[in-house]
Amino acid sequence: MTDKAKRNTLRKHKSAVCCPGCGEEINGDSDLTKVEYVRTKRGTDVFFHTGCMDKVWK
Ligand SMILES: [Zn+2]
Repeated sequence: MTDKAKRNTLRKHKSAVCCPGCGEEINGDSDLTKVEYVRTKRGTDVFFHTGCMDKVWK
């Protein structure tokens, strides 16, 4: 996914999106080159920092 597509997806969220690894908010103004995006099987959008990946998937 491109950073632009990530930004568009982020902006569709009405509530704040937080990184599950560190709890920091991720928004459309964040540096999305260091943000990963996945859609879970349940259809939930998850955004997290590349550096937090190890914490998220443990
Ligand atoms: Zn994080």
